[in-house]
Amino acid sequence: MMYNSTRDNSVRVTSSQAIIQGISKDGGLFVPQKFPALGIEEILALLPLSYAERAVFVMAKYLPDFTYEEVLECSRLAYNTGRFRSADIAPLYRMDSGINLLELWHGPTCAFKDVALQILPHLMRVSAKRTAEGREIIILVATSGDTGKAALEGFRGADNTRILVFYPEDGVSPMQKLQMVTQEGENVAVCGISGNFDDAQTGVKSIFTDPKVIERLKSNNMIFSSANSINWGRLLPQIVYYISAYCDLAASGAIKLGDRVNIAVPTGNFGNILAAYYARKMGLPVSRLICASNKNKVLTDFINTGVYDKNREFYLTTSPSMDILISSNLERLLYDLSGCDVGEINRLMGDLKARGEYRVSASMAEKIKSVFHAGWCDDLQTAKTIKDIYDSYDYLIDTHTAVAVQVYFDYKRQTGDATPAIIASTANPYKFSASVLKALTGDAGGLDEFEKMDKLYRITGFEIPEPLLSVRGKSKRFEYVCKPSDMEQAVYNLLHIE
Ligand SMILES: *Cc1c(COP(=O)(O)O)cnc(C)c1O
Repeated sequence: MMYNSTRDNSVRVTSSQAIIQGISKDGGLFVPQKFPALGIEEILALLPLSYAERAVFVMAKYLPDFTYEEVLECSRLAYNTGRFRSADIAPLYRMDSGINLLELWHGPTCAFKDVALQILPHLMRVSAKRTAEGREIIILVATSGDTGKAALEGFRGADNTRILVFYPEDGVSPMQKLQMVTQEGENVAVCGISGNFDDAQTGVKSIFTDPKVIERLKSNNMIFSSANSINWGRLLPQIVYYISAYCDLAASGAIKLGDRVNIAVPTGNFGNILAAYYARKMGLPVSRLICASNKNKVLTDFINTGVYDKNREFYLTTSPSMDILISSNLERLLYDLSGCDVGEINRLMGDLKARGEYRVSASMAEKIKSVFHAGWCDDLQTAKTIKDIYDSYDYLIDTHTAVAVQVYFDYKRQTGDATPAIIASTANPYKFSASVLKALTGDAGGLDEFEKMDKLYRITGFEIPEPLLSVRGKSKRFEYVCKPSDMEQAVYNLLHIE
C-alpha cells in the first residue's frame, strides 16, 4: 500500500516516507491509496485483546514497509510501559444508558493527543531508518495548546531528533502554557507567537514547504517533519481507539457485535473526527459522526451549507484547542468524498488561499450530510453543560468534552436517534481549571492556577492527575515570543544554524 498526496495523484510514497515528510511538497496531505477492510469476524477476534494488541492489528495494515516486529515494538513502547495512568489506555465511562464517554486523557499530558504522540516518535524512528539518510529530524509543531505539550513529551530525548513548538501567546489556557514553558529535555524548544493558532499553523506549513528553507536545513544535515495531525502518523493511532471502544462496548454486552453506534467529537483541526470517519470507512459499524464546534463554528456552517468561509471573527473561547478557522484535515475528507479528484481539491484549496472561502458541489455537500451532523455551542452553554453533568452524574468533564456532550444532546433531542453513542472526552478537566471551576461555582476570581485546581478538587473529589500537580514546582525555561512573520528566523535561531 502506497500513499498519495491530496493535491497530486502522481505522488506515491511509502508509509515511512509519508510519516517522515509529514506533508507533501505540493502542500497536499498524504492519504493511503486504499483503506483496508475491517470485517465483523476481525472485530470479533479483537475483543479479547489488549489495547496495545488491537493497535498492532490495525496499524500493521497501514504500514506495509514496517516489519510486524517493528509495529509490535512501537505499540509496546507507547502503550505497555506505564506511560498511561490507565492500563486500558482509552477506557469508556458509561455516563448514562447508551451514552459512553471515551476517556482519551490518561496519558502524560492529560489530553487525547497523547494517544498518538506517545507512539509517533517510535513510528518516526523506524521510518527514519529507511528514509532519512542519517539526517537529524526537526519536528515543527503549531499548537492550539494540547498538541504542543503532548509532542514535547513524546519526542523528549528521542534520538537524532529536535522539536520546536509554536503556540499563540494569548490563545492557550494558563495550564497549557505552564506545561509547555516548563518542558524538560535537551532537544526541545518552545516559542510563543503574537497571533492566533491559524497564524501559527500557516507559518509552520509555509516553512515546511519552502524550497529555500528545506535546502538550508539540508545543508545542515537536517530535515523537517511534522507532529501535527497533518502527519499520517498522528491520524493512524487515532483510528485505533474508535475501533477499540467499539470492541469494549461489544465485549461488555452494551451492544451486540454488528450494532451501529454514533460518535460525537469536539472538533478543531478535524483530525480526531477524521480518524473516526476512517474507522467507519474501514467497516466499523458507525452510523452518524457528530461534529461539535465552539463559537468558532466554521465547520458547523460548512457541513450545513457546503460553503467553507474563514472570513469571520475569531473568538477566544473557554475551549481553546478548538479555536481554529482553518481545519487542515478537512482536505482529506474532501479528497475521499470527491473520489480522489485532485483537480477539485486544488480548486477548493486555491479558493481558500485566495479568498478565504470555497463552495463544494451539491453532490459533495449531500455526501457530507449523509454521514456528518454538525452543531455548536457557546461558552455559556458549555459551562451549563459542565454543571449539569456534574449535578446529574457526579462526573467532571472539561470544556471541550462539554461542547461535544451538549451538541450530542441537541442532536438526540432534534432527531430522536437513540443509537448508542461514543463521545470523545478529549482532555482532563484540570487542564482548564478556571473555566470548570467557574462553571460549577459561578466564580473563579482571585485564585492562582493551582489554588483553582485545589478548590475544584475540594468541591468534587475528582482526582488531579499527577503530571498537572507536578507542574507547580517546575521552573520556566522558555519565554520567547515572536511575530508570525518572524517564525522562519526563529527556527534558525532555535536550531543555531546560519
Ligand atoms: C486538539 C483538541 C481538540 C480538537 O481536535 P482536532 O483533532 O484538532 O479536531 C479537541 N479537544 C481537545 C482537548 C484538544 O486538545
